[in-house]
Amino acid sequence: MFFSIALVVGCKAVSNEVSEAQPENTAKARLSELPDALTSSELFDTTILKPTQLFDNFYFVGYVSVGSFVIQTSDGIVLIDSMWTPNDAKTVIVPGMIELGLDPSDIKFVLITHGHSDHYGGAHYFEQEYGAKILMREQEWRFINNPEAPVLTDPFGNYSTEIPTPTTYTSLADKDVLNFGDTQVTILATPGHTPGATSLIISAEDDGEKHTVALWGGTGLPDTLEANKRYLQSLNYFQKVVNEKRADVTISNHPFSYNLIEKMTLLKQQKTSMPNPLVVGNEAINDYIDNELRNNVKEKISSLD
Ligand SMILES: [Zn+2]
Repeated sequence: MFFSIALVVGCKAVSNEVSEAQPENTAKARLSELPDALTSSELFDTTILKPTQLFDNFYFVGYVSVGSFVIQTSDGIVLIDSMWTPNDAKTVIVPGMIELGLDPSDIKFVLITHGHSDHYGGAHYFEQEYGAKILMREQEWRFINNPEAPVLTDPFGNYSTEIPTPTTYTSLADKDVLNFGDTQVTILATPGHTPGATSLIISAEDDGEKHTVALWGGTGLPDTLEANKRYLQSLNYFQKVVNEKRADVTISNHPFSYNLIEKMTLLKQQKTSMPNPLVVGNEAINDYIDNELRNNVKEKISSLD
C-alpha cells in the first residue's frame, strides 16, 4: 500500500538557491507535523542500499525510499531521477556511481519521471556540476515551478520549495523515442500521480541478451477522483505499450516496491550464470498491473465516487 506524500503544508516562493540542511530543531518540528504512518514508512527510510548493477548497462544507487537508475550508454550516462536533494546527489548518487566504477562526469542527461522532490531534488546539482541536460515533460516543468503546487516535506525536514529546481530543461513528449547511442528510451505520458507523470520503456542487455524494462512513473495514488480516473486511463495505456513492446522487466525508483531490494540482494549473492531475478517475463508484469496497480486505483475510485 502506498501513502500519498503530497501533504500540503502551505505555499512558498520557489527558489533556485542550493538549500542548506535544516537546523535540527526546524527539521524535527516539521517532521513532527507529518503523520507517523508516513514518517515511519518505507517512503521516509533513508538507509543507503548497496549500489548494484542490474544489467550490463543498468545500475541502481539510492535509499530504501527512493533511488536513481544509472544507464551507461555509448553516448554517455543517463540518470533516471535524482533523489530528494542536492546533498543526496553529492553524497549518495555520486559515491555510489564511483563504487560501481562509473564516472559521474560522464552524466549527460538527467531524465525526470515526475515533479515530486524525491525524484527531481538532485537534478540541479548535476546540471551545475557536470553540465547535464535535464529532460522532462513540460507539464512537470510547470508543476515544479508552480508556487501553488502542494509542498512536500522530505525526510530531512526540507520543504520541497527549498529545493533548487533545474534552471533549464529539454521538453519530452508522449511517444518520443530517445536514442542514446545504443540505448533506446521511449517516453509515455501517464498523468495521474502528478499532471505530467512520465513512464518509460528502456532497452537493456544482460550478458548480451536483450531485455525491455518498463518503469511505471508514479505509483502512489493521487487524492482527487478526477486524478485517480486519469491514473487508471494512463495505467491502461502503459499496459498496452508494455505488451506491444513485450517488456519482460519492471522496476520502480522506489526500490521497496515490487521487491527490487530483495532482487538486488539475490543478484549480488548468486552466480552470474544464474537467471537474472529482475527478468520476470511479460505475463508477470501484466499480473502486477492487473492485480496490484489497477486494483488499488479502482478501489480508490470507488471510495471517492
Ligand atoms: Zn511522487
